[in-house]
Amino acid sequence: MPRRYAPVSGLVSPRFSGIRTFARLPHVRDLDGVDVAVIGVPFDTGVTFRVGARFGPAAVREMSAMLRAYNPALGVNVYDVLSVVDYGDLPVVPGYIEDSYARIEEGLSPVLEAGVIPICIGGDHSITLAELRAVAKKYGPVGFVQFDSHTDTWDEYFGRKYTHGTPFRRAVEEGLIDTARAIQVGMRGSLYGPEDYDQSRALGFEVWPTDDVRRVGIPAVIEAIRRRLSGGPVFLSFDIDFVDPSFAPGTGTPEIGGFTSREAQEFVRGLAGANLVAMDLVEVLPAYDPAGITALIAANIIFEALSVVALNRRSA
Ligand code: MN
Ligand code: MN
Repeated sequence: MPRRYAPVSGLVSPRFSGIRTFARLPHVRDLDGVDVAVIGVPFDTGVTFRVGARFGPAAVREMSAMLRAYNPALGVNVYDVLSVVDYGDLPVVPGYIEDSYARIEEGLSPVLEAGVIPICIGGDHSITLAELRAVAKKYGPVGFVQFDSHTDTWDEYFGRKYTHGTPFRRAVEEGLIDTARAIQVGMRGSLYGPEDYDQSRALGFEVWPTDDVRRVGIPAVIEAIRRRLSGGPVFLSFDIDFVDPSFAPGTGTPEIGGFTSREAQEFVRGLAGANLVAMDLVEVLPAYDPAGITALIAANIIFEALSVVALNRRSA
């Protein structure tokens, strides 16, 4: 009988009880019999504005106690299909981004080598570069979908190349992303200049600013995403500031005019069929998150992504 990991049901013991792992999953470091590992990456000194996303993993785990097993929108019970664990946190060094990158990459490598899908909870968006390095080592350049109000493809901040505003330019330069299969959705807010989006397009990304999404409608953009990602492994990066700050105020660089929590679910469900091999959910900043509503959205976005992986695995 192969080993399988699933959460404790809220029908068996109350959901507010127990030690806080993601979705009440067992905390396991042995990767035998594991399909998906949820992993905290509490690094937040790559930011350009508010600090504090180091407490994101703990806050998302706290609110994830609300999650149940069955996704009625996609018609799948996640844990009937997938064995999932909370792997704990990767080691990081506050204030030392390149050292942290090395530790994150090294920490993720055994997970990827074991064929396990990592779902990382940030931390700020700078961590995704280290994750992509580990993922590309296993899969080569990957398809990439980013939900974010920013492209994060600026060249540098304060004369520095590694920040949460620059990871995806670095990732393209390092050949970690298959840009023919890369797409960014949700960009909005004030810019440094008219060239900001064009620079991202020049790197090879298909870019969907929020105004363009609103013009053509969400279903058409979901179609564009599916077209763009088809044909190989995909990395999903979800920056919680994709969601409007009226829903998700607990984040480092909020931008108004964004998507509702409901629309965010719809986008992630739209990834059904995409071959997700790794994911992260970043930029949850609990100190600005009264009532934990941002962390609650984050936990549910991860649940939607888990459901997509389960659906794909079931139909494979
Ligand atoms: Mn970002
Ligand atoms: Mn952002």
